[in-house]
Amino acid sequence: MSVNGNQFKNMLEQLDKAAKVAQIPKEDYITLRSPEREFTINFPIKMDDGKIEMFTGYRIQHNSIRGPYKGGIRFHPDIDIDEMRALAGWMTFKCAVADIPFGGAKGGIAIDPSDFSKNELERITKGYTTGIIPLIGPELDIPAPDVNTNHQTMAWILDAYSKAQGYGVAGVVTGKPISVGGSLGRREATGKGVSFVTREIAYQKGINLEGATVAIQGFGNVGSITAKSLYEMGSKIVAVSDISGAIYCSNGIDIPRLLKHVYNHPRRLIEGYSQGGLENIDNYTLLTLEVDFLIPAAMENQIDEKVAKALEAKIVVEAANGPTTFKGDRVLEDRGIVVVPDILANSGGVTASYFEWVQNMQHIAWEESTINLNLERKMMAAFETVYKKSVEEETSMRTAAYIVALSKLVEAQKLRGIF
Ligand code: NAD
Repeated sequence: MSVNGNQFKNMLEQLDKAAKVAQIPKEDYITLRSPEREFTINFPIKMDDGKIEMFTGYRIQHNSIRGPYKGGIRFHPDIDIDEMRALAGWMTFKCAVADIPFGGAKGGIAIDPSDFSKNELERITKGYTTGIIPLIGPELDIPAPDVNTNHQTMAWILDAYSKAQGYGVAGVVTGKPISVGGSLGRREATGKGVSFVTREIAYQKGINLEGATVAIQGFGNVGSITAKSLYEMGSKIVAVSDISGAIYCSNGIDIPRLLKHVYNHPRRLIEGYSQGGLENIDNYTLLTLEVDFLIPAAMENQIDEKVAKALEAKIVVEAANGPTTFKGDRVLEDRGIVVVPDILANSGGVTASYFEWVQNMQHIAWEESTINLNLERKMMAAFETVYKKSVEEETSMRTAAYIVALSKLVEAQKLRGIF
């Protein structure tokens, strides 16, 4: 996944670019240029057939100047430490943009979960958790779901951590099931947040969201909920994809029907879905369709220079983390294609995670309407701050988002001091 092994470097280039625009000297953000702590573990697990296999896991803690480390756990065969560093850094900037008191982290295990039984996955998750126990905790570092992990994974982490402490610690993870201290609204929060920022940018750019055409890459947690929310707002979702392929329908895909199909699919895929006027397309075609909104909601590095040159969407809303390469981003900027950056667009997930953590720390449970109202308020405030900054500085929304984040992080660092 770390296509050229330089994702963290790309992130630093983005940071430097924003600092230059905002005239922030390098010395002021030197602490953000390297992760505070990096952890790799190799651990053995007994498979269902009795054989022992070794696994490699990571937890990278990028920065904690504004609060405990926060970030997802990813299961993917291609993960590496460079990718984890970049993802951890993006979390630091995202939490600052979203204005929530967390720092940034990321972790994962280099596996394809579909290769393992549920019992094996539970043991692998708990083996990994046992290895990172000294590093995590509600006041220290709070994992959450990411690609190929979900509320069940979080319940297993919570169990392993709590057993080691000798008592239940709900606040050690977010995105967990409601029955073990999860929050209403958390599962849908990232996709809902993506739809809120899409609505706001549509308004700013004079695009009528009703009837606006949308292509979405990725139909997992984030992609499917984004599709559902935008469909409910009246947009026409003309194309979606997942690892099984991509589909296109010029009249719009029947999203409730597709969601039902995916829910009933043994591997939760869009493969086999049918509807009148539906065509199979490839990934490149989806990314370069002439639509109002392109929403990458899968993996990193999908919009490279080549795709960026051919892309025909009016606006890109980055639901995934890091879907655009640094070079691809430059092309989009030169072509005047508006990009709502990941650290703003997908911050609904960590914002709702923050609400979940607050509920856990106070041992209370909020109503779903309270979560949704606060989520929308926070997302709109973050959007407005970034959009205003981009107008003020005459720069892209990505650079503006980094400026907003950098300013808060640098201020916190200066106030706390360095010895
Ligand atoms: P997920 O595992 O639920 O879904 C990922 C989806 O992408 C699946 O549909 C998968 O089939 C598809 N996919 C993978 N590779 C693909 C490819 N090459 N082409 C097309 N589709 C492909 O993961 P998710 O939680 O929805 O996360 C998606 C993205 O959103 C990731 O970048 C993640 O870091 C980011 N994100 C997630 C959250 C969250 O709350 N889950 C929050 C913020 C950001």
